[in-house]
Amino acid sequence: MADAHKYEAVIGLEIHAQLATQSKLFCGDDASFGAEANTHISPITMGHPGTLPKTNATAIEYAIKMGLACGSEIAKNNYFARKNYFYPDLPKGYQISQHTTPICVGGTINIQTPEGEKIIQLNRIHLEEDAGKSIHDISATDTLIDLNRAGTPLVEMVTEPCIHSAEDAFLFVTEVRKLVRWIGICDGNMEEGSLRCDANISIRLKGVTTLGTRVEIKNLNSIRNIKKAIEFEIERLIQITETGEKIVQQTRSFDATNDTTFSIRDKEDANDYRYFPDPDLAPFHLTTAYIDAIRSKLPALPATLKKQWKIQYDLSAYAIEQLVENKEEADFYIQWAAASTHYKAIANWMIGPIRAYLNEGGGNFKALITLIPYLVELVELVESNQLNFSVASTKILKEIISHPQSPKAYALNNNLLQSNSMEDLEKWIDEVLKNHPAEVEAYKKGKKAIIGVFVGEVKKISKGKADPKMTTSLLAQKLA
Ligand code: ADP
Ligand code: MG
Repeated sequence: MADAHKYEAVIGLEIHAQLATQSKLFCGDDASFGAEANTHISPITMGHPGTLPKTNATAIEYAIKMGLACGSEIAKNNYFARKNYFYPDLPKGYQISQHTTPICVGGTINIQTPEGEKIIQLNRIHLEEDAGKSIHDISATDTLIDLNRAGTPLVEMVTEPCIHSAEDAFLFVTEVRKLVRWIGICDGNMEEGSLRCDANISIRLKGVTTLGTRVEIKNLNSIRNIKKAIEFEIERLIQITETGEKIVQQTRSFDATNDTTFSIRDKEDANDYRYFPDPDLAPFHLTTAYIDAIRSKLPALPATLKKQWKIQYDLSAYAIEQLVENKEEADFYIQWAAASTHYKAIANWMIGPIRAYLNEGGGNFKALITLIPYLVELVELVESNQLNFSVASTKILKEIISHPQSPKAYALNNNLLQSNSMEDLEKWIDEVLKNHPAEVEAYKKGKKAIIGVFVGEVKKISKGKADPKMTTSLLAQKLA
């Protein structure tokens, strides 16, 4: 599109994260995903007359954790309100939510973009209960209702309209998913609906500061779809504007079969939900001591670790970014590095062979924790040139994982330790040179790169026991 560069996209995201509590927000019903339909539905979930809701303290704690992790201000005085509307998957006829008093106000989440770090401003994070599910694709003629999800706790995180590309929206949601998993408040599984996103999008001419008319794309359930939907929608809005038409405020949905969006309804200006404080739920006050106690339980966050590791371990920005990908991996690095001084080597082991091993075998870091003393020994053997890295990472690593044992003992028993003895080295080198007269000739005529072939041959006949550095320098001497 010729004139697309005239426009700036403006995006605000609303992310619903299902809290990983055992029970629902206002009753003891099981809140887990995947049970047989309509088996987690007590009279409270169904909103039967005479039942009384009771607030789940863990859900409040989790919402506060999220707020603290984002640097939000935690509101001391809170209440829940009823948002009244009719929908078949909402048996009570209202949703309990926080209307004008979100538990967390403001805050930020930083994203690393190709153009550098960007700060995404949050408007609020509030608590609310989820609705049930209307299922349209099981029966050809009927819509089925599953109320297991009704009443499960959610936090809704709302950003300011401060995101300007589909790519940044993608990075933001990725960061949110990482964060909720990191602090353990939500499993972040988008395919199970634990994390869902609505994207609000408008465009304006660059330089303009007022907001354009927005469209809202509802219920995006994968990070990839969020990006695709926003990309499509920005293009569409620009096209409409370029042809001189007006954008109508709309609610839209994403069609993953062809990566487009379609209108569900023109957005009525003011929905009248008749909010009022829920008379069955007492307002709740949070004390500073309570909030501080939650703060003290919060694990060190990725941003903190990144700063700390740069100084403490002198790792590259790339390595750090990789290692704070998830908390299990970061914790594992911390434990391993605490038992050794080869910080960089350990980072390389984690990103390389350990990840490869876990990807292949489907194992996890928890299972490897008891092996840390052996892993320390293994890295030490490589770093002191007693063991060749490729032998260590391909062969010995698997051995010590499947049969926990000292890598040094294993290497000794299997004759895998590198030989630093000059005698052995000379013997192997002489043999290789004798067997490759043509290559020796070529080397002497100036084809110096061929030395790599000799090193490789020495490695082969020594079965990996020849130290490559020593081999190279001795070869160079002999060929000089
Ligand atoms: P609601 O959707 O309930 O009306 P808000 O008005 O608070 O709620 O806005 C929801 C989201 O839409 C926020 O993330 C906000 O930043 C974003 N938003 C609001 N206006 C625009 C706009 N003109 N363009 C893009 N995003 C917008
Ligand atoms: Mg909205």
